[in-house]
Amino acid sequence: MNQFNADFHIHSKYSGGTSSVMEIPLIAKQAELKGLNLVGTGDALHPEWLRHVRQNVSGENDGAYTIKNSKTEFLITTEVEDVKRVHHLILFPSISSAESLFEKFKKYSIDIEKEGRPHLRLTAGEILDYTNEVDAMVGPSHAFTPWTSLYKEYNSISECYGKNAKNIKFLELGLSADTVMADRIEELQEITFMSNSDTHSPWAHRLGREFNRILVNELSFNEIRDAIERRNGRKFVLNAGLNPREGKYHLSACSRCYLKFKSHDAKNLNWRCPECNGGIKKGVFDRVNELATWEIPMHPGHRPGYIHIIPLAEVISLATGIKAVNSRKIKEKWDELVGGFGTEINVLIDSDIGDVKKADLKIGRIIEKFRSDKISYVAGGGGQYGRPTLDNERENFWGSGQKSLGDF
Ligand SMILES: [Zn+2]
Ligand SMILES: [Zn+2]
Repeated sequence: MNQFNADFHIHSKYSGGTSSVMEIPLIAKQAELKGLNLVGTGDALHPEWLRHVRQNVSGENDGAYTIKNSKTEFLITTEVEDVKRVHHLILFPSISSAESLFEKFKKYSIDIEKEGRPHLRLTAGEILDYTNEVDAMVGPSHAFTPWTSLYKEYNSISECYGKNAKNIKFLELGLSADTVMADRIEELQEITFMSNSDTHSPWAHRLGREFNRILVNELSFNEIRDAIERRNGRKFVLNAGLNPREGKYHLSACSRCYLKFKSHDAKNLNWRCPECNGGIKKGVFDRVNELATWEIPMHPGHRPGYIHIIPLAEVISLATGIKAVNSRKIKEKWDELVGGFGTEINVLIDSDIGDVKKADLKIGRIIEKFRSDKISYVAGGGGQYGRPTLDNERENFWGSGQKSLGDF
């Protein structure tokens, strides 16, 4: 069997707020440089996007589609929003399966032909049943985020999906959560965790910023299903992603001025910011605390490790002090390192750290630090990303800018 890196959740140029360059040839090229063997197409219910996907396909092996001039393969995937504004990720066994689901969903959606991530007048349970009818798989996207996730709306998977909830085999952690947080919740012990980028742009600091490493015989829908269900020795062997503190909704914070709050203070303030009167959004950290069965995570035996990575462009930015990750200087360094080590993922987690240090000592030291989980972060919240920091900003867990009630 072989290990493959996979990012199952991205969005095309047809989803709101995405880059107009989100097209298959460029995504495939960038994925290859990143070191992703498989990428989800995203937006597979959108007729024009699916036509674009089909035009670029050069071959298929049981649901894994090859693309002209690229080593990266594609799985047909989409995200949908249900009637409660909960997001779900769907993995299809084929293009025709996605077309069948489009036909079933069409009458329940006013924007399915316009919007890459369509709104459906269906409950999660109905979406699950329709999805199973076309032999596709579904699970919650970014399950803990405060606007559009399962746990913003419900307290359990069965409350969300209803009588067939046992058919939910995977859950996407999202950028603001990781295995350490999610394994405090008892009902998730049997569920396979996914770490996906949910990217809206093809560049390497976004595409694959979170990814999964799976152990399968070859890339195909059935092998991936086996890995998710942990059958026949197929399994997920690694989750890689941002430190949850980098997520936009990690701590509870004002969604207008980003001031952070401890949960009991936010409650006492009725989730209203005393500085600017904006709404305080409950962070994933506080939501997981509410849902948690245990104080400390109980990792089931099958659970793979989770490595907190920093995209290489951001590592270079930290090392050089150049803030703009798309600047020419950062791009040149990135090209040099990826050229030398083959892929970004090789540089970040797989290559010998001595070799990386030989190529660039400062960058190598930062990578060595996050490989042993010793980076400090300023936590995100309220819609503002957190960030890694090398300075001694004298950060406590709450990050700078957090005030307690006594300050008002
Ligand atoms: Zn979503
Ligand atoms: Zn505010």
